[in-house]
Amino acid sequence: MTQELITDAFVLSSIAFKDYDRIVTLFSKEMGQIKLFVKGANRLKGNKFSLCEPLTYATYVLKKRRGDFYTFCEGRLLDSFLGLRNSYDHLTTAFDLLEAISKTQLDSTPSMDLFNLLKLYLKQLLTSSNPIALISSFYLKVLLLEGCLTLQSHCSRCHIKPSHLYFCFKDYFCQKCAPQKQLPFTSEELGYLLSIVKERSFIALSQQKISSDLKEKIRALYGQLSEINI
Ligand SMILES: [Zn+2]
Repeated sequence: MTQELITDAFVLSSIAFKDYDRIVTLFSKEMGQIKLFVKGANRLKGNKFSLCEPLTYATYVLKKRRGDFYTFCEGRLLDSFLGLRNSYDHLTTAFDLLEAISKTQLDSTPSMDLFNLLKLYLKQLLTSSNPIALISSFYLKVLLLEGCLTLQSHCSRCHIKPSHLYFCFKDYFCQKCAPQKQLPFTSEELGYLLSIVKERSFIALSQQKISSDLKEKIRALYGQLSEINI
């Protein structure tokens, strides 16, 4: 008989399967990203449906099937982050946090640090007045955690300190040395990234004014590195 496993997890996404069932992607504490088959999730009886909703944080009892697939036995809701559903900016930021996880995490590879970081940031987002600063800081912290972010002010090939550095393939280059010229950062912006990633206080972080242009650059940086990572 297959043994039952218990884990705390966040629902990253969920899709309907046949008439009543759902396949849920979980980011779990002990097993990393896994797929969960929930039979009868769409039936009105019981709490299964709410345990399949993206953003839900719950304790799941499950059984391993083949590969990364598990079947649902039972669950207990820990937090549904209902407060995030009152503001469009907060809800989209919460989904950006979930997407950041699903983009970078390999199936069945646990990361306790990342799990705790996601939990902390979702809780902070509930009361945050500055979702842009929060998501930017999350991207940078994950990149640092995954060993994909170096913060420097000189070209990694010729070592000069130009006014712009281009970020490609996990490194910084001047205009002459850059293999691709897609993500330019000014030295002022690089200094700003350093102050965001080093900031330990959420109160101080919420006072950081990050332009939407810089936010998009940080997102692109994250996207570029997560592609390399996978
Ligand atoms: Zn150079």
